[in-house]
Amino acid sequence: MQLTDLYREVILDHNKHPRNFGRLDPHDAEAKGHNPLCGDRLTVTLQRDGDRIADIRFEGNGCAISVASASMMTEAIKGKDRATVDALFQRVHALLTDASASSADLGKLASLSGVRGFPARVKCASLCWHTLNAALAQADASSASTISTE
Ligand code: ZN
Repeated sequence: MQLTDLYREVILDHNKHPRNFGRLDPHDAEAKGHNPLCGDRLTVTLQRDGDRIADIRFEGNGCAISVASASMMTEAIKGKDRATVDALFQRVHALLTDASASSADLGKLASLSGVRGFPARVKCASLCWHTLNAALAQADASSASTISTE
């Protein structure tokens, strides 16, 4: 894998000192992700405030790419509304898979562009986002199930 020194430094830093690591309790939603190709396992817990992600944490273990990606994701989406989170996921997914995608304004997340062209590594980097989507779907379902008919 070819990474520039700057990108490698960002990923190593987030792997060594993951941000928002741990569990939120109480939480509105929890989802687990597993990437069998690499053995990465993540659990995401989050709290919503209306349409915003008020707080989010992750725990688990996996390779440096999976941990760094989850750490950077939590930093990028905390406090953001759903539309912003969805748009960011699309940008990151494009960054990981499409060589013509722009990394402008993606900040640290741009460091993940180094995995492009390595399908197994792409799954490491995207695991946290798929796990986040599962948690958000669960939060949607549980808020829908508590709608009162009064
Ligand atoms: Zn991995």
